Amino acid sequence: MTDGEMRRAIARKRDGSALDDATYAAVVSAALAGQVDDAPLAALLMACVLRGMTFEEARALTSAFVASGETLDAPDPRTVDKHSSGGVADTASLIVVPLVAACGIPVAKLSGRALGHTGGTLDKLEAIAGVRTDLTPERFFSIVAKTGCAIAAQSARLVPADKKFYALRDRTATVPSRGLIAASIVSKKIAGGAHAIVYDVKVGRGAFTAGAADGRALAETLVALTRAFGRRALALVTDMDEPLGSAIGTGLEAIEARDFLRGVRRDARLGAVCEALGAALLRVAGFAGDISVALADALASGRAAETFERMLAAQGAESGALAALAPLDAGATARAARAGYVTEIDAVALGEQARDLVVARGSRAGIVLAVRPGDRVRAGDALARVYGGDADSASAVARAFALADVPAAARPLVYGEIDAVWEAAAEAASSAVAAAGESPPGSTLESR
Ligand code: URA
Ligand code: CA
Repeated sequence: MTDGEMRRAIARKRDGSALDDATYAAVVSAALAGQVDDAPLAALLMACVLRGMTFEEARALTSAFVASGETLDAPDPRTVDKHSSGGVADTASLIVVPLVAACGIPVAKLSGRALGHTGGTLDKLEAIAGVRTDLTPERFFSIVAKTGCAIAAQSARLVPADKKFYALRDRTATVPSRGLIAASIVSKKIAGGAHAIVYDVKVGRGAFTAGAADGRALAETLVALTRAFGRRALALVTDMDEPLGSAIGTGLEAIEARDFLRGVRRDARLGAVCEALGAALLRVAGFAGDISVALADALASGRAAETFERMLAAQGAESGALAALAPLDAGATARAARAGYVTEIDAVALGEQARDLVVARGSRAGIVLAVRPGDRVRAGDALARVYGGDADSASAVARAFALADVPAAARPLVYGEIDAVWEAAAEAASSAVAAAGESPPGSTLESR
């Protein structure tokens, strides 16, 4: 792609036209080859953010991203993967992956690192002594075949273009575009080789998508794009206004997953989201049988807990490492400054504080909630335990809890599920785009 071709593409996008497949393919390969530098690329990304992208443009960019690197293909056609848009105390992957595998559906999950205040599944796994997540494709799928599941790091060889684009978006305030976000997420899932994918789109103050309407629009786009690549897909839109589980911090979240699977302690919110995600994964895999019975039996029989242990052992966990995992001895308790109802828990503040504690004191430090919105406390009651924290960090944690004389109205936990109804709507919208040559109302993926 010449400088002139790039300049003309930027101008067309700036003036509101949609770019075609060949242009996105040329931009992506020129960017990776170093033929266009960051300045024109950033200008094009900003035009995408400000003008929005049609479904066809998001599909074209996803396709160019997938083609930029290696692609994997899970040998078993029933293989599923799950993706969460990121949150605080979102330990669902560590529970749902072995749970679904224990129902007989292979799970090949690619995961990322912590981003901002949100946790990363890889960091939680690596809190368990010996566990490796840098698996070769052969090793990844052979562990899935042997134990039913594996969780591996997204290799730099898959979708290298997204790595480059994402870093530039981060520096140029061009992350928040639904089309750019969807292309980034879906390309990595398509390249990862699973045949069916479930997306958990988080909405609320602790998520990267604030409102339920934005979350639903992103969820619809993720599902429609994934289906455009011939894979099955479903999406849930779930709450991230407060932390999902009760433990925040890499090792503490691994402990929460272990204890949940073993039936030692089960946080109700975390359990409800895991059940919804597990059911969606079994449904998208075409599971024959009663899904809620299968999930309940996999947990109650101990098979889900055993599957988790076998997966960890196959990924290098030292013998007994999971059982030995325990919070730091030293710590402090965050206490209520007054009596009242807990009305809010600031997930961003707690996510950041837990991350700081882990950096300072290691993976056995962090925060465990003692109360939830709706609970009534007396002055001096425990709000949370701060492992590895001192009196100052405990008072900072206490400030993340809002207390009032009257309870706040309860919010939904699972806002909804995006399924075939929305696929039909997206297909109708994208064929209307093709027919009219412009965006009909509702099909433009404008910035969130
Ligand atoms: N997560 C991704 O992988 N990409 C985005 O653009 C946003 C969130
Ligand atoms: Ca994650």
